[in-house]
Amino acid sequence: MSLVRFPESVVSCRNLVGGEWVQPAEVPTQEVRSPYTGEVIGRVPLTTASGVAQAVEAAKVAAHDWGLTPLRERTQRLQAFRELMDTHLARLANLAASESGKTVAEARAGLLKGMEVCDFALSLQNLDGGASMEVSRGVTCEYRRAPLGVVAGITPFNFPAMVPLWLFPIAVTLGNAFILKPSEKVPLTACALGELMVAAGYPPGVFSLVHGAKDAVDALVEHPDVKALAFVGSSPVARHLYAEASRHGKRVLALGGAKNHLIVVPDADPQLTPQAVVDSFTGCAGQRCMAASVMLAVGDVQPLVDDIVRRASRLEPGPGMGALIDRGAVDRLETAIAKAKADGARVLLDGRGVRPSGEAYANGHWLGPTVLDGVRPDMEVAWRELFGPVLSIVRVTTLSAALKVENASAYGNAVSIFTTRGAVAQTVVEGAKAGMVGVNVGVPVPREPFSFGGTGESKFGHGDITGPSSLDFWSHLKKVTRKWSAGTDGSWMS
Ligand code: NAD
Repeated sequence: MSLVRFPESVVSCRNLVGGEWVQPAEVPTQEVRSPYTGEVIGRVPLTTASGVAQAVEAAKVAAHDWGLTPLRERTQRLQAFRELMDTHLARLANLAASESGKTVAEARAGLLKGMEVCDFALSLQNLDGGASMEVSRGVTCEYRRAPLGVVAGITPFNFPAMVPLWLFPIAVTLGNAFILKPSEKVPLTACALGELMVAAGYPPGVFSLVHGAKDAVDALVEHPDVKALAFVGSSPVARHLYAEASRHGKRVLALGGAKNHLIVVPDADPQLTPQAVVDSFTGCAGQRCMAASVMLAVGDVQPLVDDIVRRASRLEPGPGMGALIDRGAVDRLETAIAKAKADGARVLLDGRGVRPSGEAYANGHWLGPTVLDGVRPDMEVAWRELFGPVLSIVRVTTLSAALKVENASAYGNAVSIFTTRGAVAQTVVEGAKAGMVGVNVGVPVPREPFSFGGTGESKFGHGDITGPSSLDFWSHLKKVTRKWSAGTDGSWMS
């Protein structure tokens, strides 16, 4: 287990506008505190509409030439950025961990996943050359992929590097100028990514960084020169942003929260299943949109439940499991556990008050693994996103009853089935509502070039944020029909 290395001094985050690091004028700043220690590790400006307008203006200027730059040249810049990420991997992983509460290993994995997205974008120079066809004698039709201009991404706290990296490598490679508005809770990693984009030689304004919260988001939503917005965060904000950005005539894809189900049946592999379930609900302290939240226990799976509790009870929050983002998250989760107990759930493992040893962690934000049994589908812990290391076990007698509970969820990000029988797995693959389905996999994140995205309240909009459909999101297809004739005087051609 790697301990988190914190920045040596408090980092003052600035916006990146037109290739320059600038402090937006006369705006409040907010402290960035490490979830591990509660200490201030950074300060972030809360940019308002005028700061956003400056960034959009600079991006608009950059977008013109960048959009006309050949794909191969744009790709060379991304190759340089990817190499820099590789060189700075350890530093980036520590920054992401120190501000988000992730473990260093998880932060590193997120960066590697981001580099896979870069690989996908790098492959476009070989794959996505458009298409042309002779449709009648002397007439060809051609598809050309054209950028949209200025586009933006708004990202959550729990993946400070990976989620931004889902977005901008593809968007800029397709010729757009991209503005990132990272979560104000984790702005340090975004600054480091911005430094690497500058060092990679992108022209000023092709990649911009605007820090802030609601005001900055509202300004991006309302700005007429921002043509597309990708959002990743909680469902209430995703729903609101989808409606508002659509009303302002933008292309928008908004990924929301999740309530993921793991279906465990009696023939599940007794070696693989308990550890996969534990890793899924405790990893990253449960702060993953793909984390297990509800276990649908079908029939008699008591030995598996006992093993899950045994394994989870050996874990403690801290550098090996991660910290919750802030005090508010701890309070919210503790209240939810107390309410579930009052509603009749049995607390098989109680993480309240569990904290890592060591003075350094005295002011961190902690909750140990928690397992609730006898949860009914109508209880709040069974349907509301909790975003912490809490597993609610709902007992059902049949697979179809399990699917009924999964299908009734307002969300639809991920579901996994644990079984050794293909037919059981196939029933879940076909019958589940969720957009991402795992078979004996606790966190069924598709790897590139397969795309990422859920259904229901987990995603507002059409297509996925990565993979092939992301190309259509960040560009439009220009259709060219050409006809050449010899003209009136073609005598010199013979
Ligand atoms: P959040 O919704 O609070 O914040 C996300 C972004 O929206 C941030 O940049 C924030 O500054 C901005 N924001 C917050 N409130 C806003 C408002 N009222 N108006 C406009 N902008 C606002 O989410 P979070 O707490 O940072 O992240 C955790 C959430 O993100 C969880 O719900 C998790 O499931 C979800 N998430 C989803 C995915 C996915 O792929 N579906 C991936 C990661 C995280």
